[in-house]
Amino acid sequence: MSKKDTYLITGGCGFIGSAVIRHLLKNNNNIVINIDKLSYASNVYAVEASEGESYIFIKDDIINKEKINEILMNYSPDYIIHLAAESHVDRSIDNPLSFIESNILGTFNLLDECYSYWKNLERKSKDKFKFLFVSTDEVYGSTTDESFSELSPLRPNSPYAASKASADLLARSWFKTFNFPIMVSNCSNNYGKWQYPEKLIPLVIKKCIQNEKIPIYGNGKQERDWIHVDDHVDGLLSILDKGLAGQKYNIATSKEKSNLEVVEEICIIMDDLKPNSSNSYSELISFVKDRPGHDFRYSINTDKILNELGWRPTTNFSDGLIETVIWYLNNQDWLFDPDKISYNGDRLGHLTE
Ligand code: NAD
Repeated sequence: MSKKDTYLITGGCGFIGSAVIRHLLKNNNNIVINIDKLSYASNVYAVEASEGESYIFIKDDIINKEKINEILMNYSPDYIIHLAAESHVDRSIDNPLSFIESNILGTFNLLDECYSYWKNLERKSKDKFKFLFVSTDEVYGSTTDESFSELSPLRPNSPYAASKASADLLARSWFKTFNFPIMVSNCSNNYGKWQYPEKLIPLVIKKCIQNEKIPIYGNGKQERDWIHVDDHVDGLLSILDKGLAGQKYNIATSKEKSNLEVVEEICIIMDDLKPNSSNSYSELISFVKDRPGHDFRYSINTDKILNELGWRPTTNFSDGLIETVIWYLNNQDWLFDPDKISYNGDRLGHLTE
């Protein structure tokens, strides 16, 4: 029997990390180690696996260098997919320090320990080893007409985006200086099941179910590219499989929508699936003061991953959105359990003068 592939996933109890793990565990030839500190945004239930031979969960913080070293020594991973991060822009306005700690210092710790581990591996394992850092399109900043490529400068505008951009640059330097086999992915906005209901799509679904006002920041015309989380996972695994060390790859669908369009589409789906007396859910839409420093438009060019790696997104936005709304409607035990979802839906990241 061939040797199993061992993956170390950081942040594997988060929205995207859990989707990565669910995917990897479908293959019996994979062993998955997950380190996650279990923050407010985590969901241990989202990983459909019992602990055992193929899945090992370690509750810890990537700030803990000794623990990272111990994990590397004990499990000898072939691949690292680094997703652990504080991920909500609004919270980065209220509490930037936690973003600096997890996203910058945590990434540094991981790089430093993984580099020490990798450089002492024997040749065959050293050649096989790869590290993928999962970043965001937000590092490029806002655009009007241009779509940013992997060569575009980083111009982050929120503390969240700045912390991710800092980590992108650390990753770059570990390749340039140490020849460490690292790749960076920059993906657009994800949606799908198990996303924490502070993010736009699940928050709007939750507000509809509760018949509460749906807050739209500013005029709602801000444009984002939305990708189904499973398409993102496919993109990450094709980068890990076929990508080149030292390279960055953008991942997106190249179909942008305004926030207001997304919210209106959710309201129409909800009108159909869970009609609310005689009113449309769209009547709950309420325009509120814009987010400070709110980026107007994210747009990235994906020619590189399409042409060089042959990856393609497969989920049409409307189909994926209907599937997602149905999932939230069917998982209200989780959505409304205060022990699992501590966020009460109040406005975050709203600077008061
Ligand atoms: P999430 O907030 O749902 O999950 C993040 C997970 O990381 C949580 O389980 C949390 O406990 C864990 N974590 C945070 N800091 C940690 C630390 N110091 N040590 C150990 N674990 C820690 O986030 P997500 O939406 O799943 O995003 C995952 C990654 O993908 C992030 O790096 C994010 O920047 C990136 N990303 C997200 C999107 C998106 O649309 N959600 C788009 C592009 C890139």
